Amino acid sequence: MERIVIPGRATYSPVALSDLIVGAPMATRLLLGATVPGQVVAAGALGYYVGSAARDWYARRGVRPVDFQAAFGVDVDTLQPMPEGMRRAECRELAEVLSDDFTVARRPREETAKEVNRLLERYIAQITGQEIVTSSEVRSFTLTRVLFPFALGTCDAISGDVAIFQDMDVLEPHVIAHEFAHRKGYLKELHAQVLAFFALRTSGDPELVQSARVERLQRNLAVLADSDAAAFHREVDALPLRPALARWFHGLRPMEAADPGPVATAMRKLYDQRMKLTGQNGISDYDRGFTDFLWTFRNSDTATQPRVHAAI
Ligand SMILES: [Zn+2]
Repeated sequence: MERIVIPGRATYSPVALSDLIVGAPMATRLLLGATVPGQVVAAGALGYYVGSAARDWYARRGVRPVDFQAAFGVDVDTLQPMPEGMRRAECRELAEVLSDDFTVARRPREETAKEVNRLLERYIAQITGQEIVTSSEVRSFTLTRVLFPFALGTCDAISGDVAIFQDMDVLEPHVIAHEFAHRKGYLKELHAQVLAFFALRTSGDPELVQSARVERLQRNLAVLADSDAAAFHREVDALPLRPALARWFHGLRPMEAADPGPVATAMRKLYDQRMKLTGQNGISDYDRGFTDFLWTFRNSDTATQPRVHAAI
């Protein structure tokens, strides 16, 4: 098996380099009234950041990316819409199996990151014949958090720096796997969603399978409820979920936070636009696109991957 190591040096820096580049001059001006020391720090960080990105780019030359259309019979532009009745049936099935197989097992974040990275590497390798080795480092803060308050985590496409902003409980393995798929070079959101799902769903590990199913269910519910928080809660209440899981799903859409405020709304719109400019369908790729992808794959007769990978 061919092995390609992406060094990802920037991911090992104690503070996000992008934060130092943007933040150090501002911080020294605010705190010390001086601009020079901040700019020296920023210039040093920029040099390291660019150097790290250049090394990664060089290492990536030989990578053969997954051909989604060939492997799964579907890609960003060939999604078939999942009928609403099928979506509701899938939600019920997911709720039942999540409740039956419920586990409270939780690894520490660092361990989750290592395991999820290994599974992602293995899943991609069985399609492309290449092991793409990347860093398992995760940080919990970057300045991006201030700009995109709706994001659960981020991956800096240039340096591969990954941040997870909050403890997502049962969903955390999926969120980390999603960001790590970006780090392995899959920049489109739909691709990160499905690779994360397949890597965890096929793992045979109860905690990680649970995380993949929880993501699938919450994305289906988001489509059914559209952006209506009250409808989302009604959908959750209608499912045969264990109380602990029902509470968790309700917690995803707190009623009092229904209005995200003008800045978050504007940033969200901007983000949707950016996605459309990069050959994606927009923010809908996270939920509608993701669930339609699994639906299309399950019904495909050209996919080379076993369709059981999209099993409930
Ligand atoms: Zn993403």
